[in-house]
Amino acid sequence: MKYASTRDPALAAGLSTALADGLAPDGGLYLPRALPAIDASGLEGRAPLHELAPRLLAPFFAGDPLARALSAICVEAFDFPAPLATVQGSPERLSILELFHGPTAAFKDFGARFLAACLARLHAADQRTLTVLVATSGDTGGAVAAAFHGRTGFRVVLLYPEGRVSPVQERQLTCWDGNVTSLAVRGSFDDCQRMVKQAFGEARLREEFALTSANSINIGRLLPQLVLFAAAALRIRDAEGVAPSFVIPSGNLGLATACTWAREAGLPIGAIVLAHNANRTVPDFLADGNWRPRPSVATLASAMDVGDPSNMERLMALYPTRGAMAGGLRAVSIDDAGIRAAIRAEFARAGLMLCPHSAAGLAAYRTLPEAERRGAHWVVAATAHPAKFPETVEPLLGRRVEPPPALAALLGRPSRVSRIDAGIDALAAALREAACTP
Ligand SMILES: *Cc1c(COP(=O)(O)O)cnc(C)c1O
Repeated sequence: MKYASTRDPALAAGLSTALADGLAPDGGLYLPRALPAIDASGLEGRAPLHELAPRLLAPFFAGDPLARALSAICVEAFDFPAPLATVQGSPERLSILELFHGPTAAFKDFGARFLAACLARLHAADQRTLTVLVATSGDTGGAVAAAFHGRTGFRVVLLYPEGRVSPVQERQLTCWDGNVTSLAVRGSFDDCQRMVKQAFGEARLREEFALTSANSINIGRLLPQLVLFAAAALRIRDAEGVAPSFVIPSGNLGLATACTWAREAGLPIGAIVLAHNANRTVPDFLADGNWRPRPSVATLASAMDVGDPSNMERLMALYPTRGAMAGGLRAVSIDDAGIRAAIRAEFARAGLMLCPHSAAGLAAYRTLPEAERRGAHWVVAATAHPAKFPETVEPLLGRRVEPPPALAALLGRPSRVSRIDAGIDALAAALREAACTP
């Protein structure tokens, strides 16, 4: 399998190169030159994720030196489940795909752990300590920290905008010791991203600290997400003989791209509906064909606050025109009022406790015509645990939401964070200091 760039179909990079680079040399995103045809007939949905994953992902690793390690990588990355929960008391066949059972209680744990397991093997022969430099507006940083914490040969430096992440997110970003350094930047998320870009752009810093990235456009974060949808689809196919349809809470479109790739590769998946918050760039494009990226607006589903989703480049490679894309995907926008209403209503209806992102998914599902809802087994992806967003969820439900044990363990640890100014000099000094701590 060779990987092209969204901006250069003739590129033919190996998987290891794509994983190590993150971004293609021309600034595009890596994608398979041709999606493989996966024979789903021999696969059993019952199998645990770490057994199913190597069989699903083998074609994507074919011909790469990492192929030998694929099984071990999957054992490391898929060490918690993604169960399907039936929604009780609904006349339709409706399930929730719970993607929040990892250490930081959001689906980003799967991608971060898979990428860390890949990079650890790529880097095994290298004597230097690599510094994974990440700017985060919330969930990604915690997942990356958890995935690399305690791994020899890696150090993680996280930048987040001081005072602009939720209290639970801040705990998850600052509860680390050892090889993880958290920096609260006196500035915005855009400042954090600019500082990271600048650091990568300065050869001196890149070399001195052997900088590497683990951001969400890395193909190593998409591939494991494909497994999640494939496994859910196979379980429903085995039980009911039908191909389920999916609703996917979406921001940067990484989950949506993975689900689309799974369907194109031959997994039994019917319709795919993207649930966006008030950031309407994608729903508007599917409605009128004009691609108008814009600054993001802040919503209750903050991990989906993306006005210029980078993975659109990958979706456009698959569906080059609006007509083609509209044939394969639909998108619904749910505003904050709709998110609040769904958190309340789904709890009243079936006792479901939803995070704001997953609530947008349920709300999007409820907008579908009844005939369509009844005509398929629908699966709504639940992307985070509601206990990550207690300030939103608890007042709406009128009760406390208990964090799952892994999250509770993280929240109980002491905080460790350094405050720095928004600027490359402050970042360089912080990198130097981090390099001195064992
Ligand atoms: C990142 C995130 C999303 C959006 O996923 P994309 O792959 O960026 O579309 C949705 N919900 C939660 C909880 C997230 O952390």
